[in-house]
Amino acid sequence: MLLTGGDGQRFRFDAGTLCLEFLLSGAVEPWELLREPADLAAWAPLTRLGIEGPVTAGPGDLTAARRLRAAIWRLAVRSAGAEGVPGVPSPIEDPPGEAASPAGDDLRVLNAAAAAPPPVPVIGADRERGWAYPVTASQFLSAVARDAIDLFSGPRAGRVRMCAGDNCYLIFLDTSRPGARRWCSMSRCGNRQKLRTRRS
Ligand SMILES: [Zn+2]
Repeated sequence: MLLTGGDGQRFRFDAGTLCLEFLLSGAVEPWELLREPADLAAWAPLTRLGIEGPVTAGPGDLTAARRLRAAIWRLAVRSAGAEGVPGVPSPIEDPPGEAASPAGDDLRVLNAAAAAPPPVPVIGADRERGWAYPVTASQFLSAVARDAIDLFSGPRAGRVRMCAGDNCYLIFLDTSRPGARRWCSMSRCGNRQKLRTRRS
């Protein structure tokens, strides 16, 4: 996905997986991009799902999207062993075996969203894979939640990272073989670090 930093720099960022990509829709203020249902409908086609047709979204979908995104954000920050973002409440550690914990709530949010039917795949006359349109927001959120369940329930959860750059809170799945990815992008935080090292 092509992002624009606070300083205007455009750079490519690979979140590594759909559910972490969803955080780019603005998991925390002031980066919120989903302010009305139409924003969600416009944002869904930007993801790696490859949606190329219309997406429908209503007011309830917007609430559901934000709730799901917040749950994924907290689970991802915890998986990354990160502190979160200053000024944003950090995830509360849940006591072991405590079902009615905030983390338990987040898992329930994931499960509820994943219980809805996902987008329906179709194959065209040209053997191209696509989706049955319109894709509903609920189908889109189901795909995101299913991806999150896959991620947080498996070994890849240990590969969730927050960018090591200063004031950069981008979260990604490290899919590199050695598992040593530190930066959101080499052309952004990776490069800044290189310059800093050179200067010092
Ligand atoms: Zn970064």
